[in-house]
This record gives sequence, C-alpha cells and structure tokens, in this order.
Amino acid sequence: KAMEMQNAKIRENMGKIKHKIAILSGKGGVGKSTVTVNLAATLNAMGKKVGVLDGDIHGPNIPKMLGVENVQPMGDENGIYPITTKDGIKTMSIGYFLPNKDTPVIWRGPRISGAVRQFLSDVIWGDLDYLLIDTPPGTGDIQITIMQAIPDIDGVVIVTTPEDVAVLDARKSVAMAKTTNIPIIGIIENMGGFVCPHCNKVVDIFGKGGGEKAAKELGVEFLGRIPLDVKAREASDKGIPMVSLDCTATKEFKKVVEKIVE
Ligand code: ADP
Repeated sequence: KAMEMQNAKIRENMGKIKHKIAILSGKGGVGKSTVTVNLAATLNAMGKKVGVLDGDIHGPNIPKMLGVENVQPMGDENGIYPITTKDGIKTMSIGYFLPNKDTPVIWRGPRISGAVRQFLSDVIWGDLDYLLIDTPPGTGDIQITIMQAIPDIDGVVIVTTPEDVAVLDARKSVAMAKTTNIPIIGIIENMGGFVCPHCNKVVDIFGKGGGEKAAKELGVEFLGRIPLDVKAREASDKGIPMVSLDCTATKEFKKVVEKIVE
C-alpha cells in the first residue's frame, strides 16, 4: 500500500518532466558521471531546464563534479528542495546529506533502492525539460529500481571505454535494458584515444572502435567517441564541466549531445 502510494507520487512528479534519461555503464571509472554532468551543462546552455539525480548512493560524485559541496537541502511538508547550481541546474544526491565527504554509506540493497525512490517521489523537481539520472556501475538492484520506477523513461545512454573488458560489461547493460524493455538511446565510447597535450593529435591507447563495434553488433546507435583529454579531467576535479572549456573532448562531446537531443 505504501509502495503504491509512493508509485503514484513518482508518477505525478515525473509527469512534470519532459525527458528522463538514465546514464549506465557496466564498469566503474569509464566516465559515466562525467558524461552526465556534461550532458546536463550542454542542455542547460541550450536553454533547457535540467535536473541531475545522483543515483549512486555508495559513490556520490555529482556534488563535486557540479561544484556544489558543503550545501544542505531544505525540506518541508511539500518535500525536499533540490540544490541549484550557479548555472541553474537542479540536483539531488545522497552526498548532500552526509556529514562529510569521507563518510561511507553502508547500506544494503533495499535501503539504497528506497533512497533512490524517495529522490524520485519526494524531491520537488518541478517542471523540467530533462532529468538525467546517474547510476552506479553494473546491472543490479539499483539500475532496475530506477528503470522500473520511472514509468515513461525515454531510455538509457550507455558509457564504455574501448578496451575489451569495458565493452564486455557494456554489453550486459544493453542486455539488461532489453530485458526490462527500456529503450537504448545509444552507446558512447569515452576515453577513446588520448589527446596529446603537446601536438593535440589523438593517440589510441586502449585500442580503437571497441564501443562502435559493440554498438553495431548489438544493433544499438553509436553516439560517438570522446578522447581522453587532460583538460577535461582538470575541469572535472575543479567542479567545472569540461564543455565550458574549448578542448578536443568538448568538440566531440557536443556532437554526441546533438544525437541525443535530435
Ligand atoms: P564513472 O562515473 O564511470 O565512475 P567518472 O565520470 O567519475 O567515471 O570518471 C572517472 C575519472 O576520469 C574522473 O576523474 C574524470 O574526470 C575522468 N575522465 C572521464 N572522462 C574523461 C575524458 N574524456 N578525458 C579525461 N578525463 C576523463
């Protein structure tokens, strides 16, 4: 009964948001959060109203990457108010509720799913054009909770790096989305090649085209290849989205966004 009531609240809350997109990866560290915040920043710069939900309860990195740390969300009888970045992106993360950034969240599956469902039902997102949901890596409880809780989710974007193990894991994300009948918007190959800081040419470290090949084999759209770019990493550590800089990774990223938005 309580769950049905919450589902109704989620439907009402999510009904005010035009597009809901979850960002998935099979493996950790491939750049899923980086893709999420840069997609958010690009859409925001295009004049869209954007929210970012950090679905990673164990490793909430969105606050740091969006440059909003040491803030605390307010709540009242209407719900929880999201944090708004200086650029106007609304965001919610378990990270905003932890006493300090070294505090681990030591919870088991059901409690984690509960927290994410509450972020969908109780956060006052308001009318948004896009809600982007960053998820932890893998194909477990939490990814399924997110996909099933949002009734009319647009679909998932899957991030991988080009090397075999990452691509193998990305194929599992594709299989999960297919099993749960969630549309797959496409695959992004991140860290495909390295931008040499001296000559700006792209060097292939992990091989080339792994993500593209997997996309073709699985019949999923390939959204593009973003090279490893030192400038992108420096930006993200400072809480600045790389798309606000003029670098090689940014140029490639913007092409990816065009494909997602079209
Ligand atoms: P995930 O969310 O998949 O765990 P992150 O987005 O946190 O991965 O990325 C892991 C690290 O790699 C971060 O330090 C991030 O700044 C860096 N990174 C991600 N993509 C790129 C890129 N294209 N170029 C340079 N650094 C990147």
